[in-house]
Amino acid sequence: MKRALVTGGSGGIGAAICRKLAADGFDVAVHANSNLDKAEAVAAEIRATGGSAHAIAFDVTDAAASKAALEKELEAGPIQVLVNNAGIHADAPFAGMSAEKWASVIDVSLNGFYNVTQPLTLPMIRTRWGRIINISSVAGVIGNRGQVNYSAAKGAINSATKSLALEIASRGVTVNAVAPGFIDTGMIEGVLDAETIKKLIPMQRVGKPEEVADLVAFLASDSAGYISGQIISINGALA
Ligand code: NAP
Repeated sequence: MKRALVTGGSGGIGAAICRKLAADGFDVAVHANSNLDKAEAVAAEIRATGGSAHAIAFDVTDAAASKAALEKELEAGPIQVLVNNAGIHADAPFAGMSAEKWASVIDVSLNGFYNVTQPLTLPMIRTRWGRIINISSVAGVIGNRGQVNYSAAKGAINSATKSLALEIASRGVTVNAVAPGFIDTGMIEGVLDAETIKKLIPMQRVGKPEEVADLVAFLASDSAGYISGQIISINGALA
């Protein structure tokens, strides 16, 4: 059974990805930071429906804690599917954006990508089969007002996706980014009202976490073995 790690599995999109990967036959590590109880609940639900999962927690901005937790995970074997999904936003107009808001968002999305992906890359390469899927955002593709920090972090993830894909393509490991538009999770609560959704999104609705999970699961499958270095949008024709 191949092993998968989904960072931010305690959140809305991450939990849906964990459920779908488990249904597709992966042994899933459901990751959390502060909400380990939510990750435990997702893992328990997967086990109750016949899947294989366990919960783990660490702060992806803490390089030492991430490395220690991942080394422990690797004792049970290589992780062959990594979904870098943990992310935060801290919006403000750039002219008034604090250094703390700038740094915190970059730290989780970009430094977190390094802290989790780097220790797992060599063990994955050694198996000659792997999938790295980075959850980006429409904001990293076309930009968004009030999200210069978030756009910068996600845009950097898109570029890192392309470079890492080139480096490890010959080892059977694909690297792709999924760039969602507005998806129905806690992250967009209070951000968009019904009227704005109708005006802004051509499909006149927000996306479901399960729709993102289906795309991620396809990229994690054998069928997607020739797709790498791509930024794939899922946004109701928003961009
Ligand atoms: P969410 O429900 O707020 O979940 C965020 C997840 O990230 C949580 O599991 C959280 O863990 C984890 N996390 C935050 N800081 C962390 C840290 N320092 N270390 C480790 N984990 C950390 O958000 P979501 O909507 O599911 O978003 C998931 C991903 O999709 C994010 O990368 C987000 O940028 C991206 N995205 C979302 C949307 C959207 O509309 N929802 C659109 C485009 C892109 P704890 O709760 O355990 O602390």
